[in-house]
Amino acid sequence: MKMVLLGTGTSHGVPVIGCDCKVCRSLDARDNRLRCSAYLSEPAKVLVDVGPEFRIQALRYKVKGVDAVLLSHSHADHLHGIDDLRIFSHSKAYDPHNKGAGETKGEGLPVYSHRAVIEDIRHRFSYIFGEVRQGGGKPKVNTIATEGYDVDNPIRIGGVEILPVLLKHGYLDDSGWIFREKAGDGHKSIVYLTDLNSIPDASVDRIKAFAGRIEHLIIDGLRVLPHSTHFSFEQALEVAERLAPRNAYLTHITHNLFHYQVQEFVDAIISRYPCLDSAKRNGGYVGPAFDGMELVC
Ligand SMILES: [Zn+2]
Ligand SMILES: [Zn+2]
Ligand SMILES: [Zn+2]
Repeated sequence: MKMVLLGTGTSHGVPVIGCDCKVCRSLDARDNRLRCSAYLSEPAKVLVDVGPEFRIQALRYKVKGVDAVLLSHSHADHLHGIDDLRIFSHSKAYDPHNKGAGETKGEGLPVYSHRAVIEDIRHRFSYIFGEVRQGGGKPKVNTIATEGYDVDNPIRIGGVEILPVLLKHGYLDDSGWIFREKAGDGHKSIVYLTDLNSIPDASVDRIKAFAGRIEHLIIDGLRVLPHSTHFSFEQALEVAERLAPRNAYLTHITHNLFHYQVQEFVDAIISRYPCLDSAKRNGGYVGPAFDGMELVC
């Protein structure tokens, strides 16, 4: 599997509009964070969230086909680029040679999330779902509720098995996603968890039951201080420790610290987390994600 992180910033992005803080003025490219999104390019083309900068992200990181979209929740920073799915949702609209991108979209581009998110996007983007055709076109999407999928019946898209997992984001339900592929007698996986400020024990069990060996864990870690709807760095590392991945990446990061300072913060406390500490000693990555980071397994 191959994934690129299209964005790793909090809802404002970094730099924040109008902010003159040192981080927002940083010349380190890793301190420039677009809104959170990820793109699995192999073995299938799957987009996780479609925020307001999706067009920029798609051009910057060469997103050349989308077989399906997964939505974590309906906050604007994860959804409001939905109109730019147009190019991927019409039959042959993008590239006649790319079979994955257009030819099977009779019903539209599959967009998966839990039922409440689908109801919300059908309400908020009613022009997409109504009969009236807008000038310039609109995305053709096929919303699919994920409630029926479970460990024995995952979503299957072109060679990758995908399972949603319930996260709590303030009072909202949010979906994390496990991407799984066969490896030897078992499985290897990439686990993507944002946005959340708590995770039910049942969700941790569900991840452990499905994921097999977790090669890459991407998890919401907003800042040092606690927050009502996001994990702090320490809270994110606590959950990462329970999942024992080979590599762990914090995402949805604010402008409070430089990238290198987030890494220093993690390094200073990593001995509290034996599994993560050991993963790092074995050459794994435990620290802040950055835009354009490529994860392969
Ligand atoms: Zn967010
Ligand atoms: Zn700032
Ligand atoms: Zn959110």
